[in-house]
Amino acid sequence: MAKKDFYELLGVAKGASADDLKKAYRKLAMQWHPDKNPGDKAAEQKFKDISEAYEILKDDQKRAAYDRFGHAAFEQGGGFRPGGGAGGAHDFGGAGFADIFDEMFGDFMGAGRRGGAQPGRGQDLRYNMDVSLEEAHKGLNTSVRVPSSVPCEACKGTGSAGGSAPATCQTCHGHGKVRATQGFFTIERPCPTCHGMGKVISDPCKPCQGSGRVRKEKTLSVNIPPGVEDGTRIRLAGEGEAGLRGAAAGDLYIFLSLKPHRFFQRDGANIYCRVPIPMTTAALGGQIEVPTIDGNRAKVTIPAGTQTGHQFRLKAKGMAILKSPARGDMFIQAMVETPVKLSKKQHELLKEFEKSGSDKDTSPESAGFFAKVKELWEDLKE
Ligand SMILES: [Zn+2]
Ligand SMILES: [Zn+2]
Repeated sequence: MAKKDFYELLGVAKGASADDLKKAYRKLAMQWHPDKNPGDKAAEQKFKDISEAYEILKDDQKRAAYDRFGHAAFEQGGGFRPGGGAGGAHDFGGAGFADIFDEMFGDFMGAGRRGGAQPGRGQDLRYNMDVSLEEAHKGLNTSVRVPSSVPCEACKGTGSAGGSAPATCQTCHGHGKVRATQGFFTIERPCPTCHGMGKVISDPCKPCQGSGRVRKEKTLSVNIPPGVEDGTRIRLAGEGEAGLRGAAAGDLYIFLSLKPHRFFQRDGANIYCRVPIPMTTAALGGQIEVPTIDGNRAKVTIPAGTQTGHQFRLKAKGMAILKSPARGDMFIQAMVETPVKLSKKQHELLKEFEKSGSDKDTSPESAGFFAKVKELWEDLKE
């Protein structure tokens, strides 16, 4: 059975504040507590579920991991797959998905896979950006405004008022970690008192309440290289939330989604465009002009006798390719348009055309097809 969404379990919105989470949890915990529902297995399970949800969501880092990866974030024994982004994930920051995974999980899985990730590291942020196909082709320099947190100026990010020195944490004696036994395993967790910092502040800075960071919207310039795809992820290292009391900042991830285009369909580096062509042009031949992704026009010669579905390739008129000077191709697909609303004269001309020759010559496809259909009917009669 699929696991229920943690936010749903607690009946809160995804962006719920820590306070709201706590309130929602307390209310539900009171309601479903086993002491209040003796012998009720369903209530007991419900209590376990909401407790689990709250355990995850009350922790900033676990919550960030859950928001990004869902329940997969906490499943053990592999099976982890980076979600979203249909194949088109490029990481310009150099770190792959495995790195992100380690960074986030090293902290609280206690495994110290990266030799002890820094305690109090700021959260990673996600910013969704829509780009047009033209922008994806050309690349884009733009700026984004991101609600984030920055180091507190009053205490220079230390969290300590007036610069008083922090004291050694009494819970973990300065180690920043506490040991807990779970079944057969003893695992280390970041100390809940000092959040893994090993130190506590006796006189917290007022503006930041001792966290060393304050909420602020920041403006960042973003460079989107030519050739990005739907789902491309751009990492701006260190541009996420400020860390706790001067710890390293998180990263900002820009997730790109491509807006649909009026005329063009993109398939990798190639662009497809269906172009209706008047029946006379298709029959007699001629030239058409089509728009291209770079804002120019391209002339396409339509040979006499062009059929619907025929593709014309315009070499190197497709999309820019990421980190390459090459370009994809553009494909024009002809759609021959049958004339409608004929005038009396036009009607007569077409009648005359019809009488003037044999279908066998001017429309070999249809003539051949109907000849075969006739054979089929003959065969069925016997
Ligand atoms: Zn401060
Ligand atoms: Zn501690």
